Amino acid sequence: MKIAIIGTGYVGLPTGVGLAEFGNDVVCIDKNEEKIKALTAGQLTIFEDGLVDLFQKNVGRGKLRFTTSTADGVKMADVVLIAVGTPPDPVTKEADLQYIYAAAAELAPYLDGYTVVATKSTVPVGTGDEVEKIIRQNNPRAEFDVISLPEFLREGFAVHDFFAPDRIIIGTDSDRAAAVMKELYKPFADKTPILFVKRRSAETIKYASNAFLALKIHYINEMADFCEKAGADVFDVARGMGLDQRIGHRFLNPGPGYGGSCFPKDTNAMACMGRKYGVPLTLIEAAIRGNDLRKTKMAERVLKQVKDIKQAKIAVWGLAFKDGTDDVRESPALQIVEQMLKNGACLRVYDPQAMGNARKILDNRVEYASSELEAAKDADVVAILTEWKQFSEVNLTELKAIMRHPKIVDLRNMLKDKNPENYGFDYQCIGKL
Ligand code: NAD
Repeated sequence: MKIAIIGTGYVGLPTGVGLAEFGNDVVCIDKNEEKIKALTAGQLTIFEDGLVDLFQKNVGRGKLRFTTSTADGVKMADVVLIAVGTPPDPVTKEADLQYIYAAAAELAPYLDGYTVVATKSTVPVGTGDEVEKIIRQNNPRAEFDVISLPEFLREGFAVHDFFAPDRIIIGTDSDRAAAVMKELYKPFADKTPILFVKRRSAETIKYASNAFLALKIHYINEMADFCEKAGADVFDVARGMGLDQRIGHRFLNPGPGYGGSCFPKDTNAMACMGRKYGVPLTLIEAAIRGNDLRKTKMAERVLKQVKDIKQAKIAVWGLAFKDGTDDVRESPALQIVEQMLKNGACLRVYDPQAMGNARKILDNRVEYASSELEAAKDADVVAILTEWKQFSEVNLTELKAIMRHPKIVDLRNMLKDKNPENYGFDYQCIGKL
């Protein structure tokens, strides 16, 4: 099949690579000229495990190409995927749909023959109706269906999740569009549940899923706070809870709060939708408030470890919103860093993948190190803010030798099993005394 993807970011690029790997002819479109220039020159613009080989292979065999021209990509396409951003409005926190609407207006004139326009971006309920209207206005004679095709990939696992998704959700009432999607997703037919639902249900499934996961994280974070006060151990609690198959083990890791480009914005957008439809989503509202507050509390937890904030040297390990990605959007680590800077702290930071993106935000307000040990040199405390595996592999004897004061605040519980106390560290993790 011929596929055009509008928006070549964390979703559009792995999706394009994956669809090309299945033998489709894929054109990835983006407005960002630098991105397209880099991709055309064979350079990946995001870090994702396993992406580079598939990218090079499919560019090499002519199945995948990149362009800034919507016309070029859309004209021949059987399916156009919209994968542009839907960031939160800075004031209302609703999903800002300007990029979706612009993409719909831009692609409309080039639709040629029956085309399925699928919204992969996370969009509020009813957006499909609006996209349909915009395309119709801009090209009254176009033959098309607009469907919802929400994306569930996890950053850091985008390639894995493309080839082995838990489910594929297709929102459409059109039999013709459903037939095209069945053909496109044929390689998954034997191994993956493919659910055909109404467009509005598909739009809701994405938000309902992300909000639920965010609630689960917030829940275990509150339990961690409780355990610290009550003398329980949240790891035992989580293990005990997770053995109940109705609960399950995943998303029961306490930490500094959820972040990233999806959970904060999607919980906010869902809460806005609830208010719009007059249905208070009180659990989601509470999780949003609690999660926001948590970052401040976590920064205080680190700062409490030093006598004089302005004189102390604090090493920060991790800036990405989670391991396996260079993405720092809504990163709890960066929010904690910002909070510490506001209090006058002096920070030396390190992240294995996100230094470039973090530098754009932190500029010269922090010092940058090229390894976790370099960041920790002469430090009064190490704060572990992202769960990179390499942080759990650090040599604690070596670490102690280079620090001014051997203190670790481990907001990701990376070193808990190594018992840093036994090496002479003053060690704090989350969820146990
Ligand atoms: P992103 O910011 O990484 O990429 C979006 C891209 O779209 C950018 O490169 C931008 O230049 C491009 N763009 C915007 N308007 C355009 C236009 N009119 N024509 C061509 N290109 C245009 O965003 P992302 O993280 O890939 O997210 C995209 C959508 O997918 C969002 O709605 C997000 O909520 C959703 N989503 C993201 C993830 C994730 O893990 N990042 C997972 C599931 C769903």
